[in-house]
Amino acid sequence: MRKRAGCGGRWWQLGLILVLAGGVLPAQGATSTDNAAAFDQLAGRLDRGEIAFTSQGDLMHLLERLQRDVPPGDARRELRYQYLYCVIGPTETPQAGIAYANRGLAAARRIGYVDAEINFLFCRGSNQEGVPDTKAAMADYDAAIALARRTENNQLLADGLTWRGRLQSVDGEYAKATVDLLEAQRYYASIGASKQEQDNLLNIATAYRQMGEYAKARGYFTQALTTGTADGDVGRQMTAHMELGFIDLGAEPPRTDAARAHFDIVVPLARKAQAALTLASAQLGLAQVDNQAGQWNDALKMLDASSAGMAALHNQWSNDMIALQRGVALAGLGQLPQALAAFDQAEQLLHQSGNLRYYGMLLQQRSRAYEAQGNTKLALADLQRAIKVQAALDQRARSDTATLMRYQFDTAQREAENQRLKNEQRLQEQQLASLQRARRWQQLALLLGAVLIALLTWLAIRQIRMTRRLREIADTDPLTGIANRRNIEWRGQRALDRAMSAGKSLAVVLLDIDHFKQVNDTHGHQTGDAVLVRLAQACRDALREGDAIGRIGGEEFVVLLPGAEIASARDIAERLRLTVSDLAFHDLAPALVVTVSLGVTVSHVGDSQFGALVERADRALYRAKSSGRNQVAVAGG
Ligand code: GH3
Ligand code: MG
Ligand code: MG
Repeated sequence: MRKRAGCGGRWWQLGLILVLAGGVLPAQGATSTDNAAAFDQLAGRLDRGEIAFTSQGDLMHLLERLQRDVPPGDARRELRYQYLYCVIGPTETPQAGIAYANRGLAAARRIGYVDAEINFLFCRGSNQEGVPDTKAAMADYDAAIALARRTENNQLLADGLTWRGRLQSVDGEYAKATVDLLEAQRYYASIGASKQEQDNLLNIATAYRQMGEYAKARGYFTQALTTGTADGDVGRQMTAHMELGFIDLGAEPPRTDAARAHFDIVVPLARKAQAALTLASAQLGLAQVDNQAGQWNDALKMLDASSAGMAALHNQWSNDMIALQRGVALAGLGQLPQALAAFDQAEQLLHQSGNLRYYGMLLQQRSRAYEAQGNTKLALADLQRAIKVQAALDQRARSDTATLMRYQFDTAQREAENQRLKNEQRLQEQQLASLQRARRWQQLALLLGAVLIALLTWLAIRQIRMTRRLREIADTDPLTGIANRRNIEWRGQRALDRAMSAGKSLAVVLLDIDHFKQVNDTHGHQTGDAVLVRLAQACRDALREGDAIGRIGGEEFVVLLPGAEIASARDIAERLRLTVSDLAFHDLAPALVVTVSLGVTVSHVGDSQFGALVERADRALYRAKSSGRNQVAVAGG
C-alpha cells in the first residue's frame, strides 16, 4: 500500500499520484458476489499501488465505491476497506487518523488479519508524522516491517521500508534512508512491481540529493520526469520538478532561473490536480527563489500563500522553513527586528524538528542580520555556531558515506555469497542430473545386458540342442534308431581303450541275419525294413546297461559288451539269438521266422584296434554261418 498525498511529511518526495485508471469501478446493480469480486480487484490494485488519483474528488469517489462493494457482514473485507481508507483517505487531523488506525489495529488483531494490521501501522505511523511525532511514527514502521518480514510478505515489506526510509530521509538520516529505500527497491524488483520501483526511485533520488550527491540525484529525477511524462503520471512529474527545483536552488552558485522554471510548472499542475500540499510546497520553493533573486516582497507574498495552504491542511512540517525564509525576506527589506523575530521563531521550530541543514542556513542568515544591525558580537556568535554546524554536517556526510559504502559492500558481499550459493546449487543440480543420466544408462545397459545374456543363453541352449540333435542324427542309424557304424566303431574303440587301461576285457559280438535276401525277396523290401527295426530294438532291449549295439551293415550288427569274459559274452550272444528267433512277425507275414548267426570274440592283452576285434568276430560269424546258421560261434585263440 503506497503513501497517499498529504498524509504527513513532504509528500512530493513520494511521487505516487497517478491518473485514476479507468474501468476499475463495478457496474451498477451488481450482485453481492460480483461486488465481492469487484471489491477484491479494486482493493488489490490499491494495495499494489497501481491506482492513484488526479484529485481528492476522484479519491473520494473511489473510496465510496469500495465501501459500497463490501459484502454485508464480511468482517475481513470491511477491515480491508478501512485500512485502505485509513492509508489513502483524507483525515481531519492527525489525531483523528491515529484514533481511526487504533480501532483498525484492535480489530485486525482480534481476527488475526496480519496484512490489515501492517497497513493500520502504516496509517498510524503516517499520522504520527503529521503530529509531528517522528519517534512514534518510526516505531510503527519498525513494527510493520518486522511483521511483514515475519510473514514473508515482500510487497508489504517493501512498502514498510519505503515508509521508514522516506521518514528517515525527512528526519535527516539520509544514509539509513537510502539503505531502507535501496532494500525496498530490491524487494519491489523481486516481485516485479515496476510501478512501485519507479516511484521508489524518486525516494532514493531524494535521499541522494539530501546527502549532497546532486549529480546522481539530478540524473534520477530527470529520468523520472521523462518516464512520468511518458506515462502521463502527473504526480511523478510534479515530484521530479519540485526536486530538480530544490537542486537548482542549492547549487553553487544557485541556478535561480532554472529553479523558478521548475516550480512554475508545478503550480498549475498542482492546482489542476487539487493537490493543495504540492501547491503550498511549490509556493515555498518560489519564495526561496524570490529571496535568492532579492525580490523580497514577492517572496513574502509567496510565503503567505504557502503558509495559508499548509495551515488549511493542518500541516506543520514546513513552518520552520517558512519562518526562515520570512526572516530572509524581512532582513532583505531592512526590517531587522521583524526579521530577527522570524529567525528566532524558526530557531525554536528547528530545535523541534532537528533539521541541521536548515539550522545552518538560519545561523548564516541571522548572523548577516545581526551584522546589518551592527551587533557584531551576536553576529560572530552565530557565525561560529554556523561553522560548528557545518562541521557537524560534514561529519554526518562522511558517516553517511561510510554507512552507505558499508551497506553497498554488505550488499555486494551478500550478492556474491548468493551468487556463490546459486552456482554451487547449479553445480550440484548438474552433477545430480549427470548422475541420474549415468544411472539411466547403467540401468539401460544392465537391461540390455540381461536381454543379451538371455538371448545368448537361449541361442546357446538352442545351439547345444541343435548340436546334440545333429550329433544324434550323425550317430544314429535312421532306420532302426540305434547307433550307426561310425558311432559304434568310435564307441568300440573307446571301450577297448578303457578296458585295456583298466586291465579289463571287452567282448564284441557280430550279428548277421540269416538269409535276409530271401526275406526281402519273399515279403518285400518294406517288410525287410520292418524286420530290421523290430530286431534291432529287441536286441537293444535285451542288453544290459553299459552294453551297446550298432548297425554296421545292411543286416549286420555289432554288440559291445564291456567287462564281459568270453563265457558270459557267449551266453549273451546266445540270449540274443533266442530273442531274435522268438520274435513274432505275424502282423507282417504269417509264416515269417527270422534267425541270426553270431560271432563272438573278447579282447586280449595287446589288442589296441577295435577293427581287429571286429575282424575276429567276423571270422567266428563266418564259421557260424558255415556251420548251419542260427548259432553262436566263438573266435578261437
Ligand atoms: P546269409 O545268411 O549268408 O547272410 O544270407 P543273406 O541273404 O542274409 O546274405 P546276403 O549278403 O547275400 O544278402 C544280404 C541282403 O540283405 C541283401 C540285401 O537285399 C538285404 N539288405 C541289406 N540292407 C537292407 C535293408 O536296409 N533293408 C532290406 N529290406 N534289406 C536289406
Ligand atoms: Mg550279411
Ligand atoms: Mg545275412
